[in-house]
Amino acid sequence: MRPRCEPCTRAFWALRQRNRSTGIDVGVWKVSHGAVVTSGMEIVRKNIGIVAIAALAAGIGVPFSTAQDAPPSPSTNILDRLNDMTAGGKSAWTPEQLTVMERLRDAALKDPYALNELRHLSDNIGPRLSGSPQAGQAVAYVAAEMRALGAEVTLEKAKVPHWVRGTETAEVVAWPGQTPGTTQKVVLTALGGSVATPAEGLTAEVVVVDDWKQLSALPPDAVKGKILLFNRKFDKELAAQGGGSEAYGGAVAYRGAGPIAGAAVGAVAVLVRSVGGADYRLPHTGLTEYDEGVPKIPAAAVTAEDADMLKNLTSQGPVKLRLTLTPQTLPDAESFNVIADWKGSEHPEQVVIVSGHLDSWDLGTGAIDDGAGVAVSMQVIHLLHELGIHPKRTVRFVAWMSEEEGSEGAAAYMADHKDEVANHIGAIESDLGADHPTGIYYSGKPALGKWLGPVAQVLDAIGAETMVNAPETGEDIGGLTEEGVPSFAPVQDNRFYFNYHHTAADTFDKVDPKHLNENAAVMAVLAYAVADSAEAAPR
Ligand SMILES: [Zn+2]
Repeated sequence: MRPRCEPCTRAFWALRQRNRSTGIDVGVWKVSHGAVVTSGMEIVRKNIGIVAIAALAAGIGVPFSTAQDAPPSPSTNILDRLNDMTAGGKSAWTPEQLTVMERLRDAALKDPYALNELRHLSDNIGPRLSGSPQAGQAVAYVAAEMRALGAEVTLEKAKVPHWVRGTETAEVVAWPGQTPGTTQKVVLTALGGSVATPAEGLTAEVVVVDDWKQLSALPPDAVKGKILLFNRKFDKELAAQGGGSEAYGGAVAYRGAGPIAGAAVGAVAVLVRSVGGADYRLPHTGLTEYDEGVPKIPAAAVTAEDADMLKNLTSQGPVKLRLTLTPQTLPDAESFNVIADWKGSEHPEQVVIVSGHLDSWDLGTGAIDDGAGVAVSMQVIHLLHELGIHPKRTVRFVAWMSEEEGSEGAAAYMADHKDEVANHIGAIESDLGADHPTGIYYSGKPALGKWLGPVAQVLDAIGAETMVNAPETGEDIGGLTEEGVPSFAPVQDNRFYFNYHHTAADTFDKVDPKHLNENAAVMAVLAYAVADSAEAAPR
């Protein structure tokens, strides 16, 4: 199974569209697999030769277009038509079931469980990097919490990367206008998976390019032996209009594929301008990727402010940087997805997944990415327990492991459950923070949108009534989506998400309790709806 993107599969989709439509071939980046970077982490490996990076180079700024659901089917009866417009036609749920959804919604808005769980994951356990002791502690903690609610808990093994951050420093040591005897600090952070520099650091001239195109226009050997900085800007205006995921998707390709492209042209290290909209000189980490065909070179993200400074100085003359990164890649570690089943009353073998990813990057405490997704998913089981609700099908909570470093948990799940895909009736993942939800992304048959009509009505009370067709919904449930399982995610306000995401500022205080509870309401109502409908969701 190929890994998909985090946190925004929408961004991945946009990139993939570009790749298909542009197909620009630069020719210098001879890589055996194309490496397409999607977002928080994901690299898609496909045998698409050298085209991938180059193709990505071109279509920056292709907006993701969401298709609202298909229009209601025509009907001659005015009442039917009114019903079509307001409730999506014949409901898959009885009035009693809709009342249960309202109870779940209202309970989620008041209940502090999700907030308390998120606070514990963020403040007490802290960052949960794959393979780390904290990730292990989080597995044990969440499993115990789910057991306490009476869910059937299983820990399912997954081998995960174990990368450990080390020292990360840089300073400009020579530049035009330098005061003799001084250096200038550059704020940066190693990219996940990066190899180390020599312990004493490496010193080299800096070459700055804004994008792939500028790199391909350089003379041969222009980058050889140098540090290459990709200065691709995050589009803050786009993010401010609600296009955070698209802005992210436009920039993140450089973080993922930058080291491959840099190594291919002889760079000794690659820097990228931080992906995301963070101010206050905050660097943004995330997974990067290497390729067998080229040397592995150290890779780090500089802050937007430092990228601007380096661009300015290099435009004036030669600039030399000393870079020290000492991360380590340890042997893969054994870890787990936490699975907690709230058994179905009629079809226990049929499951509806409700999920988030438990691992996080290490600079912050993984509150918005993705402690929030885990906490609102835990809340679904908690509310079913509290309200004594037993849907027909099993509601399966999953806390995925290692989403940030390659989605090894999701891959292990697909391998372990490959014979049970038909019994997966639906899958939900929340992995775009915890800001106000405006509706539900759904992926699968267009008929799903109409089917969700009554659910939208229940969620209208919290402003989450918009049903949006999306090609993908969540990184960890992407394998199920590909297999035709209807999948879903909350549509969240993402204007601010990428200001904190993957930075030291991803901390508990960034979560508004009201918005978190709204997300929990969306998850609970949707999970119940999919798990209890008389007929399974269209697929
Ligand atoms: Zn995430």
